[in-house]
Parts: sequence; structure tokens; C-alpha cells
Amino acid sequence: MIGDNQRPWHGGDIAPGVHCILAPNPSAWTLDGTNTWILSGPDSRGVIVIDPGPGDRVHRQAIIDYADLRGGVRQIVLTHGHADHSQGARELCEVTGAPVRALDPLMCSGQEGLVAGDVVHAAGVEVRVVATPGHSTDSLCFALPAQRMLVTGDTVLGRGTSVIAWPDGNLQAYLESLHVLAEVITALDVDALLPGHGPTLDDPGGVIDAYVRHRQDRLRQVRALWDQGVRDVDGVLAVVYANVAPGVLNAARMTVQAQLEYLQHH
Ligand SMILES: [Zn+2]
Repeated sequence: MIGDNQRPWHGGDIAPGVHCILAPNPSAWTLDGTNTWILSGPDSRGVIVIDPGPGDRVHRQAIIDYADLRGGVRQIVLTHGHADHSQGARELCEVTGAPVRALDPLMCSGQEGLVAGDVVHAAGVEVRVVATPGHSTDSLCFALPAQRMLVTGDTVLGRGTSVIAWPDGNLQAYLESLHVLAEVITALDVDALLPGHGPTLDDPGGVIDAYVRHRQDRLRQVRALWDQGVRDVDGVLAVVYANVAPGVLNAARMTVQAQLEYLQHH
């Protein structure tokens, strides 16, 4: 069951060379806050920073302090451009001189953008780029073959389920991305997911299966309403998301719009 991963989450060391600094931006949308993942090799050749998080001065300094003990920031990479992941990138780039790389060229600075299949070698760490559109068009996941881990951004969260941020997000693309992640998890024998929000997940295959089942269950519910002629967002929200907390109502609304768009084509 997804959504029952209620253990407290504060970030910290996950494995040798894999560290999380939790940004101070908790909310209904961001769970405990944004996870800034910091990867380093064994010999102080610097770090890779994944998702610097919001533009928060204290958080930025915590990243820099951690990195400076290990040779400094070599690369900044983004899982996607949403502000809670990316807003701090430009200032961290300005302070450290490290390039910013993302799928969206507009988010990049100092080096070219990332595309599916790219392999980033920096700081003694290998990061493989996996394109996972759906939550947003520009969503990427980052596979760490040596650590057998997968950084999932907002495509898979540490608790609950991901938002399809319609109209940029797309449900068809999201379902295909979950399939791609399942293949990567099998191919690299991944044994932990490092999400953009919330705690790490230690049953990657099971989590992806549960995400697919959750989406299919929701689609079945929305399709049943669709077949009865209920095809507007509020009508669907009132039935399918009747118990959703007020703080995430907008997230549910966007996901319903993505579901209705999907049903127009399927
Ligand atoms: Zn996002």
C-alpha cells in the first residue's frame, strides 16, 4: 500500500556518498520539504547536487558547507523545473561556479541540457539520465548504477502519490514513464528510490506496481463517471476525491483534468 510510509523524515546519510539535505519548505504539496540530494565519490573530488530546492539562503549555505568539506559543488542537476526544486539553482550556480543542467534548456546555465540516455560523470559518480515526462513535461529521474539507487523527483514520492500537473503534465506520458522506471529498476537491480519529497523507499518494484494500480483504479472510477455523463472537473472531484484534504485540492483538480484529457483519447 502506498501512502502508509509515515515514518518521520529528516534527510541525512542514506549510503556512502548519498546524502539528503531537507529544505525548510514543508507543505501539503511538498510533504516534509524538498529533498536536495548530494552525491559524492570516495576521494573528495566534489559533489553533484540534485535539486537545490527553493531559494532559501540557509538551505543554500547548508548545501555549500556540506559540499566544501568534499571538494565543492561540481554539477547541479534538476529533476524538473518546478520552483520548489529549482529556484535555488541559479544562486548556487553563481556562488559555486558549478553548471546547472536540466531537460529544459531555459533552466540550464554553463553547460548544455540533459536528454534521455545521457550519462553524467562528475565528482567520481556516474548518473544516468532517464526521461520520465508526466508529472511535468521536463521530468527526469536519475539512476545511480553503482549505488543501485534511483532519484525520482516528483515522479514517485516518498508518501502518497504524485500529481499530474496538468496542462503541462500528461497522464499517458506518466503511465509510460512508470513502465520505463520499472524496466530501469529491473535492469540495474535498483533497491532504493530517492524521491523529491518524503522518505526513501526500499521496495522499488513494489512501489511502481502500486503507483500503476493506483492510477488504473482512479481511471476506472473516473471512466465510470464519464460513462454516466459526468465529464466535468468538479463533478469528478466531488465523487472520486471527496475525502481529499483542502491543502491538496488544487493538486487533485489538476490530476482530474489530466484524467479527463486521457479519457478523451482512450
Ligand atoms: Zn514538481
